Order: sequence, then C-alpha cells, then structure tokens
Amino acid sequence: MAVLPSMVTVMPLPTAAPPHDGSPYHLGKELLRHPANDSHIVQFYEDEAFLMEVLAHYLGEGLAAGEPLVVIATDSHRRGITERLVATGVDVEAACGGGQLTLLDARETLSLFMVEGRPDAERFQDIIGGTLAKVLAVGKGSRVRAYGEMVDLLWHDGLGEAAVALEELWNDLAARYPFSLLCTYALGGFGEEAHAPSFRDICRAHTHVVPTESYATMEDPDCRLREVTLLQQRALALENEVAHRKQVEQRLLEALSSRDTFLWAASHELRTPLTALQLQLQVLSRMSAPHGDEPREEHLRERLTRATRHAERLGLLVEGLLDVSRISDGQLQLEAEEVDLSRLVRDAVASSSDAVARAECHVDVVAEAPVLGRWDRQRLEQVFFNLFDNALKYGRGRPVEVRVEGSAERARLVVKDHGIGIPAEHQDRIFRRFERAAPSHHFGGLGLGLWMARRLVEAHGGSLQVQSEPGHGATFTLKLPSRRG
Ligand code: ADP
Repeated sequence: MAVLPSMVTVMPLPTAAPPHDGSPYHLGKELLRHPANDSHIVQFYEDEAFLMEVLAHYLGEGLAAGEPLVVIATDSHRRGITERLVATGVDVEAACGGGQLTLLDARETLSLFMVEGRPDAERFQDIIGGTLAKVLAVGKGSRVRAYGEMVDLLWHDGLGEAAVALEELWNDLAARYPFSLLCTYALGGFGEEAHAPSFRDICRAHTHVVPTESYATMEDPDCRLREVTLLQQRALALENEVAHRKQVEQRLLEALSSRDTFLWAASHELRTPLTALQLQLQVLSRMSAPHGDEPREEHLRERLTRATRHAERLGLLVEGLLDVSRISDGQLQLEAEEVDLSRLVRDAVASSSDAVARAECHVDVVAEAPVLGRWDRQRLEQVFFNLFDNALKYGRGRPVEVRVEGSAERARLVVKDHGIGIPAEHQDRIFRRFERAAPSHHFGGLGLGLWMARRLVEAHGGSLQVQSEPGHGATFTLKLPSRRG
C-alpha cells in the first residue's frame, strides 16, 4: 500500500491573523483535521477556491494520518482536488494505485442507486457500503475518511427531498462502518425563501454544520459578533420585506381579478342595449322600405322611441365610464347651486316610475319639508339614482323607503330596501372601484356606482355609509353639510 504519510505536507489555510482557539474557522479546521468516527459534517461555501482549500485540508490530513479516503465528486472537483494534493507533495497516482485514495464520479455513482428520483436504500447499501468495506480492508482497520458531493448534485437537480433522504442513508451506514463524512453545498443554491425547510432538514441531518467562508474565516471575535448582528438585522428586514411583498402581491392579484370581472361586466352591460338598438334599427330599415302598404307611422314612432331609449342607455353607460376616469384623474368639478334635496329626490323617484314598475317595488318617499343647501344638482341626482337603482335591483319585489331630513347644518338622505342585503365582510369593499358582492350572472352592473357615489358625496364634504344584514335588506345613509361652496 503506497501510503505517503511522511511525504504529505498538509497545506495550511491562509490566515491573516493567528487563529483564536474558539473561532469558528479554527473549530471548523480542527473538526476537519480530526473528525470523529461517526461525524457527518456539512460545510457550506460561496467560492470554489475556498471549497478546494477545505478539501485539500480535510483529505490531506486524512492521508497524513494514513486513513483510506473515498472521494465522490464531480469531474472538475476531482481534478481540482488532485491538483491541490499534488501541489502539497502527495503522489496521487500511487495513493490511488495502492487503494488509499478512491476517486469516484458523483453523477455516475448516483445513477447506480437512484430509482425514480429517490435513493434506493438497498442499492445504496450495496454500492456505497460495498465501497467502504473494500476500502476499509485496504486501510487495515483504520476508519475511512469520506467526502461526497452527490447530495449537492441532487439539490441542484431540484430533488431536495432526495438529498435529505440520501443524507439519512449515510447516517444509517454509520452504524455499520467506521467512517467520517464531509458533505459540501454551494450556499448559492439556497437563495429562495422556499428553500428554508429543506435547508433546515439538511443541517439537521448532520452532526456538525460549518458556515461559509465569509463568516467562517473571520478570526476576530468582535468582527464575528458584528457579522452575526448584521445578519440578524438582514434576516429580519428580509422577512418583513417578504411579508410586505406578499401582501402587495395579494392586493395586485385581487385588483387584476376585479378588473377582469369589470371588463366582462362592462362588455355585457354595453352589449345589451347595443343589441337591442341594432334590432330596432333593422326593423326600422325594413319598415321604411317601400312595400306598397300605407306607411305604418304608428309602428315607426314606437320603434324610434325604443331605439332612442337604448341609445340613451348606451350614452349613460359611456358617460359613466368617462366619469370614472375623470374622478380618478382628479378632474371632478362641482358646480354648486341652491338645491332643495327633498324636491330633487321626489322628482327623481317620479321620473323612475317605469323602473319602479318593472322592479315591482312599492316606494315610500318621506321628503316633504324643503332641505336646502348649496350642492351640485346633477351630481347629487347621479348619487341618488345609483342608490335608488340598487335598491330596486337588489330589493326587487319588496318595499323601498326613501327619506330626506335636514337641519340648518346638515342634510340626511336614507335609501332603505328589504332585498338580499350585504354580508359584513363586503360592506367596505363595495365602495371600491369595480368591486361587487352580488353574483354577476344574477345582477348586471359594473361595480362603479357606489365608488362614484361616495367620491361625489365626499367631494361635497359629506359621507355615505351602509348598514345591512344579509337577507334583510340594506340601508344607505348619505350626510351632506348644508352650507358649503
Ligand atoms: P353594481 O350595482 O353596478 O354592481 P355598485 O357600486 O352600485 O355596483 O354596487 C357594488 C356592489 O354592492 C353591488 O355589486 C352589490 O353587490 C352591492 N350592493 C349595492 N347596493 C346594494 C343593495 N341595495 N343591496 C344589496 N347589495 C348591494
């Protein structure tokens, strides 16, 4: 057996300052110099050059102690190790020929016992256990010093669970053969938050964990304490940042989803009057074609009235959409004038008689006494129609109550229905843009009315609130200061 203990000069790791006995670097070096029989060490690294230094130290010390070595590494790392050992005076060829140094390819060895993406326990015992037994025989009873990169390969292949399982198989093997094992992982492979549980499992599977060079090579205890403090702060900041980003991401997803719903609803809302308008126009053009009959004026007038109504509805929808961008851009201009809110409400209800009849609602209006203030009449009408239309839509077939009250300081408008109501968890949300709480296939709408209404009321210095219980209707209360503008 060509063991060369006397020839082996162990390359010391370069140190700027004399190592302190208790430093992690020193401890790490000591650990690798004299690993206990059943020690299973993991060394993390950032730089390949540092990895090579660590391996030269670990393997060189083993050779010097006359221990048989098993190295299961990638092709480039095997070459790197060989070069380092040769540079320290080791006759690598002789060590290999004599059986003291066994160099195996990590990928190839892995393929011998991996079955369907997991290490097979029996095959692992045969292949790796067999290798250890053979090497032990050469070492004449001395324990084996092993180094393995198969777990790091598995981790890089995205097989984290398989890597942890393989670490455990190595641990099982420790009960049968005397060996120490060093594993190394590139820390760069654990850069995602999702890697944390596997990282913990990997650390747990080892008897000793050695941090990367940026911490491990720090000799000055004060520097180390500072570094740990900085790392703690960085970890805390990152955790908070991750939590914040998750919230932002969630809000963005919700916004995207409500925008999709809005686009779907907007196209449906616009399509209904458009289809009806197109139909009316087709009928009109057929009726206006000469066919020898008397012109059917009555029918023509009726069709024209309907076509005009659909065009008006389309116009209102488009205006509503334009309002959204005006309000969003902050271009909303109020034109204040003396307004009697009671009168405005009575007129608006009267002009909605068709809609009230279609909704089969009984409407009770209490708005006798004048309630005066300086407000934008058109905008207040718009707000009232939004609330009133909703009461008819979501409270179909049930009574609706409208009440206007006022004092010298303040006006109050209440629209109460007895319809489907709004669950408590949606009562804030429905005032946001595009947000809807009712099923779209049952109730048309764009989810803009309440958002717009609240914006308009707030622009007047007022407020708009809802009280509701699902199944028992909703009460919208609008408050406006009387003397403003
Ligand atoms: P739209 O009615 O066009 O969807 P709104 O902004 O007017 O948009 O209303 C937002 C949501 O609030 C509605 O989709 C509905 O879920 C809920 N909502 C509004 N008014 C009522 C009401 N009177 N009763 C029950 N739900 C209502």
